[in-house]
Amino acid sequence: MGARDRIREFFENNLGKIVTTQQVRKVAKISEYARRIRELRELEGMQIKSHIDDPRLKPGQYILETLDRLPALGIAISLQKRNTILERNGYTCQLCGAGAGDPDPLYPGRKVRLHIDHILPQSQGGTDDDDNLRVLCSTCNQSKSNIQTTSEPTLNLLARIRKAPRAIQKEVYLALKKTFDS
Ligand SMILES: [Zn+2]
Repeated sequence: MGARDRIREFFENNLGKIVTTQQVRKVAKISEYARRIRELRELEGMQIKSHIDDPRLKPGQYILETLDRLPALGIAISLQKRNTILERNGYTCQLCGAGAGDPDPLYPGRKVRLHIDHILPQSQGGTDDDDNLRVLCSTCNQSKSNIQTTSEPTLNLLARIRKAPRAIQKEVYLALKKTFDS
């Protein structure tokens, strides 16, 4: 049983409970547990949340609240390549311009998480060459893997809203909330 298997089992056994990096590190028995958590998220679609995704969590805390898996992103590139692409793309989503750590305009209280995207998916023969890789935020990445939920016009509109000043974004958010809450 590898470190990734042990961490997976640990999260599944602690469903709905907040766990800490100390616990994960102990279970993993390796120092590179953060990379394994990323693999569980990106390769297996596990919905492990950190303080970046969930304002209830403090840094160093994680929670898995559902066994439902998201579509796997199929990212198995090296840490070094990941950093190269992030640096090349200025740590910003290449579709909507969101930056790492920016507040997520779609989910108040959450921060933007960046992923490395294969422009031509690996399932269609896309390679790990630098020119087939780019940075996407989790929202654009999910929209890409599930085109049906967010159409192209919606993505374009979202991109425009995200480039607007924060005050304008909030006005848009409140206006839409008013419409849909009533
Ligand atoms: Zn984006």
